Amino acid sequence: MSKTYVPASLRRNVVERAGSCCEYCLRPELFSLSVHEVDHVIAEKHGGTTTEDNLALACKLCNTFKGSDIASIDPETDEITALYHPRRDRWSEHFQLENAAFIPLSDRARTTIRLLQLNRSRILKERSLWLDSGLIKIPI
Ligand SMILES: [Zn+2]
Repeated sequence: MSKTYVPASLRRNVVERAGSCCEYCLRPELFSLSVHEVDHVIAEKHGGTTTEDNLALACKLCNTFKGSDIASIDPETDEITALYHPRRDRWSEHFQLENAAFIPLSDRARTTIRLLQLNRSRILKERSLWLDSGLIKIPI
């Protein structure tokens, strides 16, 4: 949900850093019907900048679910909770893969999984295929 043009060289760096996979659901761009988008993790309307430390590669669905949100309600505590930040948070400290499902290890992971619907049944089936393909990049 960007209003600022992301220069091609910057986009290339974001795509390469992400291994061409969505940094939220892990969908490889190869298995997407649309080109992955460059997400402003902190949306511009909240003061986020168009710089590598605030950009993440996101598939169309994740970028749509996330929109310009930077927080949501934790489904377990009902507290307003910041979303997972791919540049500042280490994926493996927040998520774990069990078969194809994301298991939250933190409040922000739980909140992000709910808001972006990262464990909906269709994506679980697809993620199994991506994992089997060996094309998925599991962040560390
Ligand atoms: Zn995604």
